[in-house]
Amino acid sequence: MANLIPHFINGRLVPGTGRTAPVFNPATGAQSGEVSLATAAEVRAAVQAAAAVADDWAATTPLKRGRILNAFLRILDERIDELAAVITAEHGKVLSDARGEIQRGMEVVEFATAAPQLLKSEMTENVGTRIDSFALRQPLGVVAGITPFNFPAMVPMWMFPVALACGNCFILKPSERDPSASLLLAQWLKEAGLPDGVFSVIQGDKDAVDALLHDPDIQAISFVGSTPIARYIYETAARTGKRCQALGGAKNHMIVMPDADLDQAVDALMGAAYGSAGERCMAISVAVPVGEATANALMAKLEPKVRALRVGPGTDPEAEMGPLVTRQHLDKVRGYIDAGVAEGAKLVVDGRGLKLQGYEQGNFIGGTLFDHVTTDMTIYREEIFGPVLAVARADSYATAAKWINEHEFGNGTAIFTRDGDAAREFAHQIKVGMVGINVPIPVPMAFHSFGGWKSSLFGDLHMHGPEGVRFYSRLKTITSRWPTGIRAGAEFVMPTMK
Ligand code: NAD
Repeated sequence: MANLIPHFINGRLVPGTGRTAPVFNPATGAQSGEVSLATAAEVRAAVQAAAAVADDWAATTPLKRGRILNAFLRILDERIDELAAVITAEHGKVLSDARGEIQRGMEVVEFATAAPQLLKSEMTENVGTRIDSFALRQPLGVVAGITPFNFPAMVPMWMFPVALACGNCFILKPSERDPSASLLLAQWLKEAGLPDGVFSVIQGDKDAVDALLHDPDIQAISFVGSTPIARYIYETAARTGKRCQALGGAKNHMIVMPDADLDQAVDALMGAAYGSAGERCMAISVAVPVGEATANALMAKLEPKVRALRVGPGTDPEAEMGPLVTRQHLDKVRGYIDAGVAEGAKLVVDGRGLKLQGYEQGNFIGGTLFDHVTTDMTIYREEIFGPVLAVARADSYATAAKWINEHEFGNGTAIFTRDGDAAREFAHQIKVGMVGINVPIPVPMAFHSFGGWKSSLFGDLHMHGPEGVRFYSRLKTITSRWPTGIRAGAEFVMPTMK
């Protein structure tokens, strides 16, 4: 069998014994490999290997853990191009974008190298006479991360650097559509000094995910993917008693106010809607110009730019946008464009007919632009996850904000305006987890935390940054008194600190 993509269990690459699934190069449509899909026994082997070393890893000092992550960071820095090429070959995004996602992931590694600082906690001397109280943040044990296809390096790196820094062992279940990046990460962690078993990669699909969800030794699950699966993961984790953060889909709006710098807004929309072919959970998929004049001026500037988008294989340095990840996804995105037309939206630029010479079997689609989209349409309500921008014209700021607040999803949003008062009001009252003011893709930096609201996140804590540290550690509070502080005789009332 050509190029079997294995698991990485207990420090070594392990070919699977069960089913497999084909992996394709999205630009050519050619099959590039066959990924192992883990059996329950293979998942169990990875978890057992982790459980066997979990106490030792938890006892490794945070300083040592941080140093290993630091060595990993240096390897990533040296080999960023190698990893980017693997991402482009399986995901399809352009190389500069692949490097960009690695860079954002590396920032989380950099954050996690400060493990000793991150794990410091509170202490109060004399909570009562000669009694002290202090808090510990201890690891959970073995935790798992289940990740989507669209960021095969960055999303795993939202999770495992923080989990490892906190002293946990980590099992990664990457997307079966672009599984190879995870194996490089695993091998480089080992090279950086991470002990065998502390980090394993289980390739697979629903069977592997279910095995993780029901494994008695898995203490917590981090998930990023589509909303129906996120809901399923969260509900199942609740039933099996696991801590869970499950990030779902998105439909991100960008309001363009009449006073906005339109050229800036158009450039921002182009990158945010069509970058990575729209396969980003923080992509802007709905532009909401306020007022007819703003809408007309915006469309006049947007349309020629969408027509001029340079689409090509990710390895072409001139390309601004690569192919979609799979043939099935291409069909799905085309289906949404058909639905938009059928439901009465005005199709201004149609990407469906795009053909690239030499790449006829690739999953290419051109940038697509709809005008006069209304809130009852499928292309407004559902996540398309492709290079399709819907323009929904609002008569006022209040209408625009109402649409955003009433939408099922609440991942990211942005406003373009020169009016500080409008921007402040927007930031204050909008029901969305990540908000940009003249910033179209407000992805928080590693030392802040990432997460949406409503159907974009199930769970209590966002990813990386301080919320990530809270998610991957549990609190223990110690109250201590030494012999000279102990009073004689038993006390039968609820202790109060005197
Ligand atoms: P997906 O939900 O199809 O897959 C995500 C993961 O779940 C994969 O590892 C997959 O193997 C697994 N999976 C798939 N079907 C399953 C099932 N029935 N049971 C259990 N596990 C299953 O998502 P995708 O297509 O890989 O990624 C795109 C989606 O991810 C989009 O909806 C996007 O918005 C979302 N996403 C969200 C964020 C965020 O931060 N909120 C970030 C990136 C991507």
